Amino acid sequence: MIELKNIGKVYRTDTIETLALQQVNLSIRKGEFVSVMGPSGCGKSTLLNIMGLLDMPSEGQVTIAGKRLERLKDKELASFRNHNIGFIFQSYHLIPDLPVVDNVELPLLYRSVSAKERRELAKEALEKVGLSNRLRHYPSQLSGGQKQRVAIARAIVGRPEVILADEPTGNLDSAMGQEVMDILQALNRDGSTIVMVTHDPNMAQQTHRLVRMFDGSQVS
Ligand code: ADP
Ligand code: ADP
Repeated sequence: MIELKNIGKVYRTDTIETLALQQVNLSIRKGEFVSVMGPSGCGKSTLLNIMGLLDMPSEGQVTIAGKRLERLKDKELASFRNHNIGFIFQSYHLIPDLPVVDNVELPLLYRSVSAKERRELAKEALEKVGLSNRLRHYPSQLSGGQKQRVAIARAIVGRPEVILADEPTGNLDSAMGQEVMDILQALNRDGSTIVMVTHDPNMAQQTHRLVRMFDGSQVS
């Protein structure tokens, strides 16, 4: 489902070069739930951003669902990302002045889906994360765990095959973190391929496989 071959990434500005990834090779099968761990600054977010087509590698090849990504133009890349990948972040990234249901509809705005169908799909996604009773609330009126569940609903509303989660439980206490983890596991059982960056060994232990990173390289 996800193939990374000899991935390298260098961040360049006028004055500094930062080597963020070198020679990373990773193959993730359809339906796998993989966690990524490693010290701060070792390249976990960079790796996830490259898998999620939010950032381009400096070298190497990325193949997702059989498509070689360096061959896509910017517009095709954005469309491919919108249809195939759902992103979840540690800090939720919800839009504060939109109600929950409108936040969840956002990824569908770039598709040819009617307003009525958008609303139905968003309600369905919110039902999956147990938030049918919070449609008209604003993000500021929700707990951290509820905000993350809204973010998960937004990630899955377009039915992507791949879900990428960057420390999804990092800001949550262990009970709320486990609720989020239970939802990710249910999505995985329903067929989603999931890659999750985490600092929490207890969360990593609940996935199929652990990838360890150190200093821009993958060590296992
Ligand atoms: P992690 O997620 O493991 O904490 P990151 O992938 O965020 O690590 O960062 C890996 C390295 O790349 C770090 O040294 C970081 O400072 C650097 N880095 C990340 N993003 C950028 C950027 N946009 N510009 C310059 N350096 C960056
Ligand atoms: P989150 O709250 O989603 O975990 P992070 O704090 O890990 O966000 O990183 C936010 C963004 O900043 C990421 O896209 C990452 O690539 C970028 N970033 C991380 N480190 C640096 C850095 N040293 N310089 C510039 N950008 C960075």
